[in-house]
Amino acid sequence: MTGKEFRKAGHVLIDLIAEFLDSIPHRPVTGSATPKILRKLLNDPIPENGSDVLPLLSKTSELLFEHSLLNGHPRFWGYITSSAAPIGALGEMLAASVNPNAGAFALSPIATEIERQTIQWLAQWIGYPSTCGGIFVSGGNMANFVGFLAARKNKVDWDIRKEGLRDRKQLTVYCPKGTHTWVEKATDLFGLGTESIRWIDTDESQRLIADLLSSQIERDRKAGLHPFMVVGNGGSVSTGAVDSFPQLARICKAHNMWFHIDGAYGVPACMLSENKDLFNGLDLADSIALDPHKWLYSPLEAGCILVRNKEALHDTFNFHPEYYKFDGTDEDPVTNFHEYGLQNSRGFRALKVWLGMKQAGRKAYVKMIRDDIGLARSLFEIIQGTEGLEAVFNSLSITVFRYLPTPLENGAAPQEEYVNRLNEVLVTRLQESGEAYLSNAVINGKYCLRVCIVNFRTALSDIRALPEIVLRMGRAVDNELRMDRRGSFR
Ligand SMILES: *Cc1c(COP(=O)(O)O)cnc(C)c1O
Repeated sequence: MTGKEFRKAGHVLIDLIAEFLDSIPHRPVTGSATPKILRKLLNDPIPENGSDVLPLLSKTSELLFEHSLLNGHPRFWGYITSSAAPIGALGEMLAASVNPNAGAFALSPIATEIERQTIQWLAQWIGYPSTCGGIFVSGGNMANFVGFLAARKNKVDWDIRKEGLRDRKQLTVYCPKGTHTWVEKATDLFGLGTESIRWIDTDESQRLIADLLSSQIERDRKAGLHPFMVVGNGGSVSTGAVDSFPQLARICKAHNMWFHIDGAYGVPACMLSENKDLFNGLDLADSIALDPHKWLYSPLEAGCILVRNKEALHDTFNFHPEYYKFDGTDEDPVTNFHEYGLQNSRGFRALKVWLGMKQAGRKAYVKMIRDDIGLARSLFEIIQGTEGLEAVFNSLSITVFRYLPTPLENGAAPQEEYVNRLNEVLVTRLQESGEAYLSNAVINGKYCLRVCIVNFRTALSDIRALPEIVLRMGRAVDNELRMDRRGSFR
């Protein structure tokens, strides 16, 4: 592409994107095409000869605009996926255009320093020591993996990187029930096996019960195992529960264990003055995972891990192959990020986060996060006052509820099993409808609908519209299931 061609194509593409962004609220939240239909659309022959840039970009834009789930939609509240700030898209384009390899300072001088600064700012925003180490990764899973590996390296008294796990005491890791599935992947991938996880029961506020944690650790030590890590949730994935960090930190200290916080979703909420008590003790963690692609509104992918002791992180990953000559000088040391994580070549993920932080500023983030939490709370209250719906749980910006079917013909309340089945079908129905998008959670055996608002585009009017949608579709599903049960109208 010549400079002239690039400029022209870029202008066209930016215009298309800008129109798309403006159009999102008027589109269905998700398209309805099945895999088969989509594969037909992609039925072009394998590219043997090239094609012109302008039609290529406009056709591709249309494909994406028409057949995507729009997580930037004001009524998207599924899983924990945020609306992305447009400046992040521009940042991605800028990063890809310069294309620094942020694996080593020499390959990415300014990108490395911007990443370092972003990590320090994130630490400062959440009240963590800014002398910490850290690195940008693809998301929460990878961030938690890095924390896990740092714990594994630094809480055993042999050289685990050299000798591995052979003939050693079984390492065990402790986390509340409901901890995200990354912990299963980590124990599997890094040689401990999923049986090394101790899932600790939670109380009615979905927080880990500290006494149970202590007694499990003591039992395991007596049995000759090696407890090395406790995971606390800073906003659990299903319910947004925040564990009691001071208690967990105390237990870790008593047993010389690593204290890790999975804050992939919720940690930015600690910036709100009203959440000071809730997140008390966050600064005691040895490591914290957080996801700028969640509550900091960065486009995917952007996860980050902070590790209190920078050297401990370096010790976990550092190797010095003979073909790398990336050392700085003692007076002006360099950071080579390949020595701090799993990747070698690395993209410039930090830029979109850094730009977002600078564009909006901390105060605006606090406001946007506070708005999300307020909207989730409002939804909870609206549901409490709505006949036919049951408000089940609310924490941070997550509200969990369910549809309650009307009594049976004989006047009896429908059985729990039926209510669960109905809500399970209802989640899919809602998702496919394109009217609003939410996901599910199972709480104390109740199959529920779950709204998680990490969305600066959501307004109170969007929240107010939800109960009517759920009631309408809930009644329809209820009727269908009952007909099915009677065996008629098949
Ligand atoms: C989202 C999430 C993860 C996983 O993060 P990804 O960015 O999807 O890899 C882990 N833990 C919690 C609490 C999360 O909310």
